[in-house]
Amino acid sequence: MSHGVAWRNWSGRVTARPALIARPRDEAEVVRVVAGAGERDVTVRAQGAAHSHAPLVAHDGIVLETDALAGVLGVDADAREAIVRGGTRIASLGAPLREAGVALHNQGDIDRQAIAGAVATGTHGTGVALRNLSAGVLGARVVLASGDVVLCDAHREPELFEVARLSLGAVGVVTELRLSVRDAYKLEERMWLEPLDAVLDRIDTLCAATRHFEFFWMPGAERAACKSLDETDAEPVYPLAAEGKRLAWSDEVLANERNDLHSEMEYSLPAASGPACFRALRERIARDFPDLRWPLEYRRVAADDLWISSATGRDTVTISVHQGVDAPDEPLFRACEEIFRAYDGRPHWGKVHYRVGAELAALYPRLRDWWRVRDRFDPDGRFLSPYLESLRP
Ligand SMILES: Cc1cc2nc3c(=O)[nH]c(=O)nc-3n(C[C@H](O)[C@H](O)[C@H](O)COP(=O)(O)OP(=O)(O)OC[C@H]3O[C@@H](n4cnc5c(N)ncnc54)[C@H](O)[C@@H]3O)c2cc1C
Repeated sequence: MSHGVAWRNWSGRVTARPALIARPRDEAEVVRVVAGAGERDVTVRAQGAAHSHAPLVAHDGIVLETDALAGVLGVDADAREAIVRGGTRIASLGAPLREAGVALHNQGDIDRQAIAGAVATGTHGTGVALRNLSAGVLGARVVLASGDVVLCDAHREPELFEVARLSLGAVGVVTELRLSVRDAYKLEERMWLEPLDAVLDRIDTLCAATRHFEFFWMPGAERAACKSLDETDAEPVYPLAAEGKRLAWSDEVLANERNDLHSEMEYSLPAASGPACFRALRERIARDFPDLRWPLEYRRVAADDLWISSATGRDTVTISVHQGVDAPDEPLFRACEEIFRAYDGRPHWGKVHYRVGAELAALYPRLRDWWRVRDRFDPDGRFLSPYLESLRP
C-alpha cells in the first residue's frame, strides 16, 4: 500500500508521495507547521510554483505550499526597494510595482514562479549587464527550524542572508523578501532569423548591442531565432502583439507563455566559452540525437558575488537543452552534461543535472560555507531531503 498524497512538479517528470501537503494561510501558520514537524521529526520542503525540473521539493515529509503567502507589502520608490511576500507569483508583481512607479531589473523567460521559489534557485533572464533575481535580494524574513522568525540582510545575520538569498529551500521558509527595484520602464522587442554560425561569430557584438539578447536554435536548423529587447519611451501598444513584436511595460514583455511540457538542463559557462560549447553541443546532437525537436537557448547573465550563484565571480553564458515529457531525457542530458563539464559549466540548481556534492564544491567555491551556515541554523536537517543531501560536499 502506498502512503502519502500524490505530488508532481510542473512537467510531471518529478513525482513524490509526501506525508502531507500543508497550506498555511499566514506566517503564524508556517511557524506552526514547522514546529509541528519538529515535534514529529518530519522534514519540510517549501514549494513555490513547483516549476523546478530538479527534485528540490519532492520528498516524503511535508510539502509546504506558499500560495497564500502572497502580495506586495510596500514599495519605497525613492530607495528603489519593495517588500513582497515569498509566495507571490512573479506575474502578480508587475502591476502593483508599476503602479508604484518601479519594476524588477529583469525577469526570466516565464513569470509563473513564486518570487521566493525563483530566488531560491538563482533564476535569471538575459542581459550582459543584468544579474540573476537572487542578486536583487536585499533582505529576507525567514521562519527557521527553531520556529524563530528572523530578518536578515547584509548587516543583520549576514551569513544567514548569504544562504537565504539563494537557499534551495534548505534554511527555512522565506515569508518575505526585500527586493531591489528600478524605475518602471518599457521595452520594445524584436525577433529575426540569422545563420547560427554568423550569430556565434558575432555574439559579443549582438549581446552588447541591446539590453537583453538571446537566441533559440532548433537542432538541424541552419538559422537561429534571435531576440532583442531595448528600453523605449514609446507608448505601449495594446492588445499586446505576439512574442517578438511587443512594445509595452517591462513585465508585459519579459514574460512568455511556455505551455508545452518539457524538462530542461541548463549550464552556466564563462562567457568566452559560450560559442565553442554551443558548437560542441550542435555536433553531439546531430550525431547522437538527430530526432531532437526541442530548441537550445543561449543567454547572458552578469557576474555576481553570491555564494552559490551559477554566475558567481564570472560573466556568464547560459545554455539550455530541452526535451518533451513524452521522450526520455536522461540520455540527451547526460551527453550534453559531458560537454558542459568540459567547458567548466555550473548547473542551474532548479534544472536537471547529475552532479553530486564533491564535484559541485569544485565549481562553487563557497558551497562548503553555504552548508556550514545552513547546518548552523538547521542542525537537525528539518529542511533537508535525500536529494538535498546529495548536494553536500
Ligand atoms: C517553463 C519554465 C521556464 C523557466 N524559465 C526559467 C528562466 O527563464 N530562467 C531560469 O533561471 N529558470 C527558469 N526556470 C526554472 C525556474 O525558474 C526555477 O526552477 C524556480 O526555482 C522555480 O520557481 P518555483 O516558484 O516554481 O519554485 P519551486 O520549484 O516550487 O521550488 C524551488 C526551490 O525554492 C524553494 N522554495 C520555494 N518557495 C520557498 C519559500 N517561500 N521559502 C524557502 N524556499 C522556498 C523550494 O524548496 C525549492 O528548493 C523555468 C522553469 C520552467 C518550468
